[in-house]
Amino acid sequence: MLTRPLILLAALAIAAPLRAQAQPTPAAAPSVTAIRAARLLDPDAGRVLTNQTILVEGNKITAVGAAVAVPAGAQVIDLPNVTVMPGLVDSHNHLALTYKPEPENNVYYYTYVQDSTALRAIQAASNGIQMLSAGFTVVRDLGNNGNYADSALRQAIDQGWLPGPTLINSGIIIGGMGGQFFPTPEMAKQHGIVYPEYLDADTPDEIVKAVRQNILFGAKVIKICVDCKPYGYTADEMRLFVTEAAKAGLKVAGHVQTPQGAKNAIDAGIWSIEHSGALNDDLHKQMAAKGIWRAGTETPTGLQGHPVSEQAYQRTVANLKNAYENHVKIVFSTDADYFVQGKTRGELVQEFIRPWKDAGIPNADIIRAMTTSGYQVCDIDKTRGPIKPGMFADLIAVAGDPLVDIDAVRRVQFVMKDSVVFKKDGVMTPEKFFHAGPVNGWRVR
Ligand SMILES: [Zn+2]
Repeated sequence: MLTRPLILLAALAIAAPLRAQAQPTPAAAPSVTAIRAARLLDPDAGRVLTNQTILVEGNKITAVGAAVAVPAGAQVIDLPNVTVMPGLVDSHNHLALTYKPEPENNVYYYTYVQDSTALRAIQAASNGIQMLSAGFTVVRDLGNNGNYADSALRQAIDQGWLPGPTLINSGIIIGGMGGQFFPTPEMAKQHGIVYPEYLDADTPDEIVKAVRQNILFGAKVIKICVDCKPYGYTADEMRLFVTEAAKAGLKVAGHVQTPQGAKNAIDAGIWSIEHSGALNDDLHKQMAAKGIWRAGTETPTGLQGHPVSEQAYQRTVANLKNAYENHVKIVFSTDADYFVQGKTRGELVQEFIRPWKDAGIPNADIIRAMTTSGYQVCDIDKTRGPIKPGMFADLIAVAGDPLVDIDAVRRVQFVMKDSVVFKKDGVMTPEKFFHAGPVNGWRVR
């Protein structure tokens, strides 16, 4: 007797040849768009080129230059009064976590209790749109997303349901028992309150299993708690994470909060260290020597409802300055996971530029941290980010010159994502992104 799945398979086998007989519609020639940029910022060179033409065919950039001819029939987009530049990257965000003054008193333990994964996925979709409007075409999303709300959002964006940044998402954060939570035995063992925010992996077998679970459920980077508990990971345990993740081409990002944890992570050759609180001059030198990324998540003072003492802020700024002077590979990263009244998620993230200015980092290098280095830490720089032939057509335009005034990157007037215009003249135009089906294919996972 055929079981139900077998009947389905049999039906599919019959249906497949029928579909193959259907007349294919001839593929339309890819539409060509020519962007005429009065000013084009090249982050690598740290300079602005004038009167550049960028050709886009399908969803890729095909030509960039002053002498590029506009083909007959091309759609022309004139950007005369703005600076065109590559899209921005937040290398540490949490789109599906927004803890709030009400009802959870800004304690994210309770967000899991109050907001379902489904609700959080919808919040994440909204946050993604807010990020894209602020010019962030790429977001590295490092966990605390309920039961894989981050994978759902990435798949929805990639399949073509709605607009959003390219997501490099981690799935569930893996750690020793409890993760970053300190649940009571009842909460952990009887009510599973830790889960799905954290995935326990206390032994080598559990490490392999946890990495594989995240890969299976759509993670594009592996995020671990290096030292959230006294029983943090050894360098050998982290090497196991690195080799298991590498089988699927994934990198390992480590949340670090102690100098010993940082040392272990560096010895293990981890890809990136998240948060800067435990880092110091010696550790920065070791990171620079091994080429380990630093996503410092520097929080400014003055965010309503999220006080940072002046002393703590000065430590943060000095630490970032030390990393810069030691030539550590640094990226713009925020750890944004909360709600500030009156600001979009994108506007909140823009506030995090201030520590970079206060650390005295030149504008050209802040721009690199927000673009070139961001694509690299996301491990997408071969296909997405730079405005070069062969790359996916993502770009933004801002009022002013960020090389002179870095806050110009907060004045985003134009956003193109995957060749589609999302924002023009400062106004969002998202309707072209919304589709009532997976137009890029349901297999895009
Ligand atoms: Zn974080």
